Amino acid sequence: MTDIKSLTKDELTSLIKDMGEPGFRAGQIYDWMHKKQAGSFEEMTNLSKGLREKLTAECEFVCLKIVRVQESKIDGTRKYLFELSDGNLIESVFMKYRFGNSVCVSSQVGCRMGCRFCASTIDGVERNLAPSEILDQIYAIMRDTGEKVSRVVVMGSGEPLDNYDNILKFVRLLTDENGLNMGQRNLTISTCGIVPNMRKLADEELSINLAISLHASNQQKRQELMPIANQYSIDELLDACRYYFDKTGRQLTFEYSLVGGVNDTDEDADELAGILKDLNCVVNLIPVNPIKERDYVESTAERVQAFKRMLEKRRINATVRREMGRDIDGACGQLRRRHIENNQEENK
Ligand code: SF4
Repeated sequence: MTDIKSLTKDELTSLIKDMGEPGFRAGQIYDWMHKKQAGSFEEMTNLSKGLREKLTAECEFVCLKIVRVQESKIDGTRKYLFELSDGNLIESVFMKYRFGNSVCVSSQVGCRMGCRFCASTIDGVERNLAPSEILDQIYAIMRDTGEKVSRVVVMGSGEPLDNYDNILKFVRLLTDENGLNMGQRNLTISTCGIVPNMRKLADEELSINLAISLHASNQQKRQELMPIANQYSIDELLDACRYYFDKTGRQLTFEYSLVGGVNDTDEDADELAGILKDLNCVVNLIPVNPIKERDYVESTAERVQAFKRMLEKRRINATVRREMGRDIDGACGQLRRRHIENNQEENK
C-alpha cells in the first residue's frame, strides 16, 4: 500500500493520474492532508465517495493514535504518547512559548546511538519513522489542541541523521508552500554527530537550524558519554560544524547536558570555551534528567550558573534550557518506557 502522506505533491499527482483521476484531485487531497490536517479520507468531503473508497483500498493513511497525554499544570506543556499502525510507541511534546507553539518530534522508534545519559536508547532502535509518521506527530497535536504550531524541533527519540532520507523528505513536506508552509528557519534538527550526514545536509541548500549534542569538551570525555565519538572524533565533528555554518550561515547550537561531577567542572567550561571560540554558536546547557536505569546525577543549580558564567566570560553565548513540563515527566523516552513497563507488569 502506498503511504500517501509521505508523497510530495508531484508524486501524489502521478499516483492520482495513474488511478485514472484528473490531476487537480491531487491538489485537493494534498490540501486536506497537509493544510487541513484531515484525520481520514472520510473527512475529504469534496472528493467523490468512489474516489475515497479507492484511496482507502489502495493507500495507507497514516494517522497517529493518541495513547496518553500528560499536561503540565505549570506551563501547559503536553507530552504525547502515540501508537503507530504496527503497535510501536513514540513520544512527542507540545510546548507553549511567548513567541508561539513548538513541537518536539521523534525520528525513530528507539535509538541505536547509545548515549549514556539517554533513556531512548536503552533497548536500541526498533525502526525508522516514515516522513508521514514524523509529520503526523505535528498534525495529530494540531488536531488535538486546535492550535497552530510555529516551530518544530527534531529532538525526540532517535538520531535524525541516522534516518537521513526520511528526515529530508519530512523537511520538504513540512516547509512546502502547498502544505503547512513552515519557515525553514523555524525548524531545528539535532544530531549526536554523524559527520558525513552533517556535511551532506549542509550541501542541501536549506536554511534549517542544526543542534549538535556535544556534551563534552574533549575527545576522551565524549567517548565516555557518547559511543558515536569512537567513530568520528570531536575535531572532525567541529570541522563539520564549521562547514555547516559556512554553507548555510545558520548559527549552530551545541547541546550540553550537565552531569554532576562528570562534565560540569570549571575546567570543563574552560576547555569547552576553547574548542568553540572560533564558531558562531550558542551553547544550550541542560541540567541532565536523572534516569533510573543509569546512575548519573543532575548538576546543582549553582554549578549550572557557574558553568554558564565561565562560558560567558570567554565570550561564548550560553543559555540554560528552561525545563518545560517539569511536573509531568522526566527525560525524553521515559513516558514510552514507563508505559511499556506498566503493560508488562499487568500482563504478568
Ligand atoms: S541522545 Fe539522541 S542520539 Fe543519543 S541515544 Fe538519545 S536519542 Fe539517540
